Formats: sequence, C-alpha cells, structure tokens
Amino acid sequence: MAAAQRIVIENCSIATVDADDTEYASGYLVLAGNRIEALGAGPAPEGLANVVRRIDATGHLATPGLVNTHHHFYQWITRGLATDHNLFDWLVALYPIWARIDEPMAYTAARGSLAMMARGGVTTAMDHHYVYPRGTGDLSGAIIRAARETGVRFTLARGSMDRGEKDGGLPPDFAVESLEGALAATEATVKEHHDPSFDAMTQVAVAPCSPFSVSTELLRDAAGLARRLGVRLHTHGSETVEEERFCHELFGMGPTDYFESTGWLGEDVWMAHCVHMNDSDIAAFARTGTGVAHCPSSNARLAAGIARVPDMLAAGVPVGLGVDGTASNESGELHTELRNALLINRLGAHKEAALNARQVLRLGTHGGARVLGRAAETGSLEAGKLADVVLWKMDTLAHASIADPVTALVFGAAAPVTASFVNGRQIVADGRLLTVDEDAVARATRDEARRLARIAAQG
Ligand SMILES: [Zn+2]
Repeated sequence: MAAAQRIVIENCSIATVDADDTEYASGYLVLAGNRIEALGAGPAPEGLANVVRRIDATGHLATPGLVNTHHHFYQWITRGLATDHNLFDWLVALYPIWARIDEPMAYTAARGSLAMMARGGVTTAMDHHYVYPRGTGDLSGAIIRAARETGVRFTLARGSMDRGEKDGGLPPDFAVESLEGALAATEATVKEHHDPSFDAMTQVAVAPCSPFSVSTELLRDAAGLARRLGVRLHTHGSETVEEERFCHELFGMGPTDYFESTGWLGEDVWMAHCVHMNDSDIAAFARTGTGVAHCPSSNARLAAGIARVPDMLAAGVPVGLGVDGTASNESGELHTELRNALLINRLGAHKEAALNARQVLRLGTHGGARVLGRAAETGSLEAGKLADVVLWKMDTLAHASIADPVTALVFGAAAPVTASFVNGRQIVADGRLLTVDEDAVARATRDEARRLARIAAQG
C-alpha cells in the first residue's frame, strides 16, 4: 500500500480540545490520509516524506471541526414562517406544509442545510428526519446522498411519528406512519446505510420524534430495535412546559420518568433540548450517561426556556450543541450557537461564569462527538484521530484586536473559515464550499420552497 499523503499546517494557534484542553500559541498539524498524524508547538518536524501541501496558517486558529447534534434538514424550505409562535402552535401551523414534502424537496433542503453548516465549520452533521408521507420516494436515501456530496461526516436519525390527532397526538393523521411501517422502514435504513467503522462517513440512529407524536409502543419497540441492531437512539425531550403537561395528563409522569419507563435512558441515547429538567431528571441523565443536544437559538425562538447546561455539566451529563431545524433557527449555523449557548446560559443561571468560552468550544466539538458516539474518532485534535479540522481566520477587522483566539472565536462575530478538512479532504476554502455550488443550491432551495408553498396552499 502506498504511504499516506501528508498535509502540513503551520504557524497557527491550536485549541486541541483534548482531555487537558491543550493549546498552542503557535503550532503545527500533520494530516496523513484521513488521520491526524502529529501536532505540537512550533514548526512541523523536518524531513517528512510525501508532503503534498504545506499551509502557512499565520493569523489562524485551528480547532476540531464542529459537530452538530440536532437538526431537521427539510425545514430549510419552510424558514421564516410562524415566526411568533410557541412550539405547539408552531408545529400545528407547519405540520400540514411539512406533510407535502417529496424526495426532490428533501434532497434540495438537505443540500441547503448541509452547505450552510459546512461553510461555517461543521465537519460532522446530523439530520433528525421524521416526516415520511406515503408514496413520496426514498427520502432517507436522498438525504444521505446530499450529505455524501457535501462531504461531511453524517448521522441520519431515522425518525417516525405514529400518534396522530385521533390518538391524542399533535400531528394530523395523514402525516403519520403506522407502528409496524415505521419500525420496518427504520430497520431497512439501518441495514442499508449504517457503517459501524472507525472512519465511517454515514451512520444511522433510531429516532421516533417526540412523546406527543409517537405511541408508547413505538418508543418501546424502537429502543429494542436500536439495541438489537447496535445503533444509537435519538428523540426530542423535555422541550416545553406544554410537553411536560401533556406527559403528566397522558402518562401520569414527567417526560424523563416516561422515557425511563420505555427504556429510553442510557449511554446509547441522546435527546434534543432537555429544557425542563428538575434535579432528579438531571441526576437520572448523569447516572445513565444519557446525552443532551442543547439548541439555545431554537429554544429562544420558540420561547421554550433555558436548559440547565451548567448543572448538567456539573453532574457529568454528556452535552453537545444543535442548530435544530431551520424553521425554528433560520440562521442554520452552528458556530453562532457557541456564542448563544454561552450568553443564554449566563442569563439562565444569573451567573457571569455559568459557561466560559472553552467550555462552549468543547460542547460544539468533543461534546457533540460524544453524544453521537464518536468521541474516540473525532471532536478533538489528537494524533490518531480523524482529520476533521477547521482553520478560522482571526486576523481581520472582526477579531484582530482580541488577544486570545478562543475568546475571539466565541465572543466575537462569526469567524470566517479559511479551510475545513473532513476525513483529510478539504471541503471549504476561503469561506466557499469546494464540494457543491452554493449559488446553485441557493436557487434550487428557493424554487423548492415556492413549490412546497404552492402545493400546501392547494390543500
Ligand atoms: Zn428538533
């Protein structure tokens, strides 16, 4: 086998986000094939063979690529609607539109969502997709194809809903699947697309949507299915006071107790939001190793509340960051969530140091990799891990006068991405995607948003 080709990156600040938070004021990285081979302070070692590229990264900060742990790609073509609604009213307004999506729409919306994240430093993405109208094609396959074309590492959380209005749920009956249909389709998706390898580009998780759109049987059977197939579990949990009320009325207990009763707490589970958690809920997550996808902008947009992230971290709960769907976070960017997580949690805790810059960088990288079950592979810059690396440009007007680059990245304006590598392959150069034509994607998303609006208006 031919020796791996090397890329040498030099003269940058490096925040490794390893277990000791090692940082270098000026250092180097050597990428060999799809791995990080070496990194450290000062210039790269001399005499390396097979160096195909040398990058002088003066004025840059190198970090692990960002990891997004919660999203709904299809919402890219329903942004800017129901902008003054809480979660349940927003859902009721949007379900009838979402129920009309088809395969070309799902593909185009996924390309838009992925492009927006990737150009902002995301190297590992996820999509929680749970709208599968009958007879509309292979939506999961289309989403995975979009992720492959964009070049990011990807987890498809194959969602489902089977509790329609007639069963006391929130979604309209025509937008839900049957219990058996949802389970069979989820198993087929895992078998076709899930890659358990160390350097997998595509993984699949089992992801019924939420307590108010899914039957107790589907939750329980989905947990059994995921464990039989050896894949992870994902859902929405404890997002709003209305959800809490719904759980008490229907199940006689709060969301966390309900999840525990259906087999949904464990190291192989991560949940979006977890805003309304009491001390015993947080303790249950910590005891079982259940992970959280913290989505501060979406929680603010829908007035859901502020998750107790500092308390979760103190208890040892694994926490990552999520954009959430872009119908509730129109920006669609993850790097701005670092700043929002820090600011919102300071407001929530009434404490000026509730979260600091290095903690939120960890949430957006290593924390995210941990909740996706991939912390051994990505999420920090360490020799032997996958070459998922971002170079942020910190020497322009926006950041140059801030001495500490991690402070500049988190507290400052969204920093431009000079280069982003995924699996050793560069997918962003000078803020532009190399893998897809952003302008063509923009036009296609506008056209599909209009087509969906037209079809939905016809009823
Ligand atoms: Zn969500």
